[in-house]
Amino acid sequence: MWRISTILPVAGAVFRPFIKGKQTLSLAPINRDLTSEETVSGETDVAWGASGDAQSIVATDSEKADGNLPAGGPEEPISEPADWFNRTIMLTAIIAPFLGFLAGVYYCWTIGWMGWPFLAMIVVAWCMSGMGVTVGFHRLLTHSSFETYKPLRAFWMMMGALSIEGSPLVWCAVHRKHHQRSDALGDPHSPNLHGKGLWNTIRGFFYGHCGWLLTTHWSKPDLSRYVPDLLQDKFLVWVDRFYYLWVLISFAMPASIGVLIAWLSGDPLWKGALLGLLWGGLVRVFMGHHITWSINSVCHMFGKRDYQTNDKSTNNLVCALLGFGEGWHNNHHAFPTSARHGLRWWQIDTSWLAIYAMKKLGLAWDIKVPSREILAAKEIH
Ligand SMILES: [Zn+2]
Ligand SMILES: [Zn+2]
Repeated sequence: MWRISTILPVAGAVFRPFIKGKQTLSLAPINRDLTSEETVSGETDVAWGASGDAQSIVATDSEKADGNLPAGGPEEPISEPADWFNRTIMLTAIIAPFLGFLAGVYYCWTIGWMGWPFLAMIVVAWCMSGMGVTVGFHRLLTHSSFETYKPLRAFWMMMGALSIEGSPLVWCAVHRKHHQRSDALGDPHSPNLHGKGLWNTIRGFFYGHCGWLLTTHWSKPDLSRYVPDLLQDKFLVWVDRFYYLWVLISFAMPASIGVLIAWLSGDPLWKGALLGLLWGGLVRVFMGHHITWSINSVCHMFGKRDYQTNDKSTNNLVCALLGFGEGWHNNHHAFPTSARHGLRWWQIDTSWLAIYAMKKLGLAWDIKVPSREILAAKEIH
């Protein structure tokens, strides 16, 4: 009989080749000037936060030296494994939704259709928590690409926390570091640093997808360096401090709605709770996780590049459709503070539509979108 105490060490051993790696090539220097990345809507803009204090996250001299290692130079570790406690938590966060997904497939195979109420539960929960990450964690908190009223800002934060993609402060800190060092030494989740050849490419993909979550990049983020502005936001710090409560709510809510569905349809209540937990909880989290992780892995390996950037970011239609517009990732790396990632009329970006709708309702302002001239200056012909 497989028990969790058996599964975790085995899973840890399986993941190990993917989380320990050596830097074998340096794609680009990392001392990029992110303080004046772009001018948006005619304003001079800063990459992080409203404070404009971008100085605090510019790479230190020693880090610059690391990033400028010539290709084929001394090998440097890409990452270090996190301690066993953090590894166990993250392995559970990766494996439990996957097991839920397998249980869902088994359910459909043996019992059949889940029913409209549970399908609706998956879709609504996935869209709400997913947009909480894309509109809230990413475009609002990490990049300050628009401003909104405090209650709405709080709403997006809470929706994002329900996605179970980590505490908001850690999420934003890691993501800012990714922009700072994208596809160079120090990037928390580049899939492009494991070397050449098929096996190394597979290792890199897996590391960029979720292997990096088992490293110190995730377990020891430098919050005071990367998110000093967000640490001033009292409500955000409160959401962050009680993050595990949001994890609990994220599963308790669908289980409770499942009980209600069962009660209305005359089924046993325990069955409704379990089905709510399965579809609105584990399967929904599984979908959200892998779609977000694909932005880090797939969108740095497969797709088209429309704009010049110092990394290998790509635009990928499938990731954009599933990821609420985040798959226009090359556009995003070229213009990080833009609230709009789908920059062409046909590049569907549902997160941008949500921000645009907020603007039309008078609920969002200071929305940053690059001007035609700025777009043209970076365009690849
Ligand atoms: Zn990226
Ligand atoms: Zn970003």
